[in-house]
Amino acid sequence: MNTQDYIALENQYNAHNYKPLDVVLERGEGIWVWDVEGNRYLDFLSAYSAVNQGHSHPRILKAMMEQAARLPLTSRAFRNDQLPLLAQELCELTGYEMMLPMNSGAEAVETALKAARKWGYEVKGVAAGQAEIIACEGNFHGRTISIIGFSTEAQYRNGFGPFTPGFKTVAYGDADALEAAITPNTVAFMVEPIQGEGGVVIPPDGYLKRVREICDRNQVLLILDEIQTGLGRTGQLMAADWEQVRPDMVTIGKALSGGFYPVSAVLSNREILGVFKPGDHGSTFGGNPLASAIAREALKVLVDEGLITNAREMGAYLKGRLERIESDHINEVRGRGLLIGVELKPQAGGARRFAEALKQEGLLCKETHQHVLRFAPPLVITRADIDWALERIEQVLLMA
Ligand SMILES: *Cc1c(COP(=O)(O)O)cnc(C)c1O
Repeated sequence: MNTQDYIALENQYNAHNYKPLDVVLERGEGIWVWDVEGNRYLDFLSAYSAVNQGHSHPRILKAMMEQAARLPLTSRAFRNDQLPLLAQELCELTGYEMMLPMNSGAEAVETALKAARKWGYEVKGVAAGQAEIIACEGNFHGRTISIIGFSTEAQYRNGFGPFTPGFKTVAYGDADALEAAITPNTVAFMVEPIQGEGGVVIPPDGYLKRVREICDRNQVLLILDEIQTGLGRTGQLMAADWEQVRPDMVTIGKALSGGFYPVSAVLSNREILGVFKPGDHGSTFGGNPLASAIAREALKVLVDEGLITNAREMGAYLKGRLERIESDHINEVRGRGLLIGVELKPQAGGARRFAEALKQEGLLCKETHQHVLRFAPPLVITRADIDWALERIEQVLLMA
């Protein structure tokens, strides 16, 4: 079967809820992936930051194979010998008291929202059924019905209502707007330190610090969604570390498994995660031994291989070089660590055609929000590989 055969099959039998680049991948190693025709590509997307550790990392693969052979799933009806170690190692790495494991990122977000509401009723004393949660315009927190209910992206919502009440949105990066929106019933403010899907949007300096202070003053929980920005992507363990801000709850996912398996988690303290009593919440696969063993090794790889520092150094280098490209198409280059957005001018004709052209040159990336090219290679990338990528990027951005 060739590329066109696979595409035809997928189009026939699989729902069309994505519009992928027409490249059919069959193998990956480190920063590289290969398609079914034998072409090699540099992966400049990393599965939206799920493969920060690089494709098929040998250490994570080994941990996965060993655990898969031993015991993949127990359900939480019984205990297993991996979850306690993951919980301890993750809390020690991040400085939180407790974690709650789930599978997808959206589930971690749902978990944080449920915890915030229950905390609001039990600890803050909000009247039953009145809890309010504030999120940001341009947010991306996942695709469940409750989460899309407070999306401001029309396409994410259209046709899927009615939505869960109790949410409102304020402008991203505007701390005054947050303060004005808070009422005595507000239990939480949920925000991304950098809006990844929103187009790699970085809030003004000091925003998170002010948000932290406003939340403290109003007894509102600060929930940071670090599913895309966390675990080294921006050159710190968490993107909020750039402002030395500590949220009350943080959601992580994606790179927590190095791309091998869906693993997500909420990190918080005992007062907040302690609101969950047996039976309140759960997931058949959440915290399973296979997921836990994979996540334990994925975290060790991040630390042992110095990937966070590498992301900071390589990101600064890549961003600096991108800023020096003299292309009439570029409006702005923004980013932190290895999460970089190149915003093109409206007259450039959309980012998609540049992503297609880069694919032809052997570099895979994806447009986000029509005019932004997102560059987010695995954190194991070297300077020589970035130079290789830049040659292609420069060439494509200088095309007509
Ligand atoms: C990807 C992402 C999610 C959702 O994660 P899924 O695993 O796709 O459910 C939530 N929040 C942010 C910031 C993300 O980037």
